[in-house]
Amino acid sequence: MNASEALLEAAARVIPGGVNTCRRRSEPRLCFRRGSGAYLEDLDGRSFIDYHAAYGAILLGHSHPAVTARVASAIEQTVLFGVGVTESEVALAEKIVEHVPSVEQVVVCNSGSEATYHAIRLARGVTGREKLIKFQGCYDGFHDYVLRNVLSRPEGVGARDPHSAGMLEAAVDATLVCRYNDLEDVRATLERHGEEVAAIIVEPVAHNSPGLLPRPGFLEGLRELCDATGALLIFDEVITGFRHHIGGYQAVCGVLPDLTTMGKAIANGFPLAAIGGRREYLERLNTTADGDVHFGGTYNGNAAAVEAGLATIAQLEDGTVHEHIFALGERMRSGLAEVADRVGVPAVVGGFGSLFVLCFMDGPLETYEDVLRNDDALFGRYRRELVARGVFEMPESLGRSHIGASHTTEDIDRSLEAAEDALRAAVD
Ligand code: PLP
Repeated sequence: MNASEALLEAAARVIPGGVNTCRRRSEPRLCFRRGSGAYLEDLDGRSFIDYHAAYGAILLGHSHPAVTARVASAIEQTVLFGVGVTESEVALAEKIVEHVPSVEQVVVCNSGSEATYHAIRLARGVTGREKLIKFQGCYDGFHDYVLRNVLSRPEGVGARDPHSAGMLEAAVDATLVCRYNDLEDVRATLERHGEEVAAIIVEPVAHNSPGLLPRPGFLEGLRELCDATGALLIFDEVITGFRHHIGGYQAVCGVLPDLTTMGKAIANGFPLAAIGGRREYLERLNTTADGDVHFGGTYNGNAAAVEAGLATIAQLEDGTVHEHIFALGERMRSGLAEVADRVGVPAVVGGFGSLFVLCFMDGPLETYEDVLRNDDALFGRYRRELVARGVFEMPESLGRSHIGASHTTEDIDRSLEAAEDALRAAVD
């Protein structure tokens, strides 16, 4: 038994299933001891090029020296005061307001799920309405407001499909599900429920679906429908924020939401998330004297997260990181399409910017129904073959992959070679 197997066995005795989040249950199970730049090393000394990147939270590379140094120096003073405000919290808010076009004010919390939870409750408080529209296949966090119709199987599409036991029935029913990229569906839903809908929450690029790009006019149409009905538009930029542009995907597409949720790449792996938006809405939080929408959290604004956020944003300001990761993303996506072609496997490469996913199906890749044509079994075999060749991507069906600032052209080319070998082995 090697060190990883021994640890997995010990873990299973004291942690249910041996892992601390359900997505880590996927095969192969790996135990890592070190991350450095674009590379991971496991407990048995094997090295991997990492495209999992902690679900995209790692943007600059593991243990980025500027981030680590800034955090280390700050926490010598303390990690958490718990009262008042620190200079760094204000500096971070100023940076987010400066860069993210629709954000006039912002508050921070610790995870993307917290951010979407608070944003939705704020929208309900502002509008006095209860219902929410989300999209089939989008993942907006683990709480009851949004945990339905996430990774639906075919029979779940168009049906009431809660993703977990134990969800509050009323919460499931308060969330209406529309088809991503189908404006008519949203319009029809609003015609039935317009007066009751507090907000539409959307991943502007549906990376959990896994990488459906918005059709031209889709996000603009959502903006118009919200304006017409009084619902707030929430962009869930937990993946797209800071990764696709320092101003988020809204800076790319030009559509401005009322509220924005951010997380993951904002702090290069440290637990920082944010809710930003128009001042008139943010001031409804009970962080203000007259605010009536509760906003709390013991760890909000802790020094490690805030300093990591400041250090990460500083790295993004001159635009070179985005130039680099977008160029590598293009190289990877076109390279993968050629690999699939050479091996003779029907495939579509999804993704945008630094994200990519090789789906085993014929095109198009525009709706969640399209995603269901993916050959899941081949995908699983391919990803396992990749791991065996030292390339680590999300080992779960249709998991997207992430390129970061520390990946090099050589890493991409080496990964493409591995991809071709892996795919040949997977189809054998
Ligand atoms: N929103 C989106 C788009 C996500 O992809 C995720 C997580 O994957 C979340 C929200 C929830 O973030 P967290 O896992 O930090 O709670």
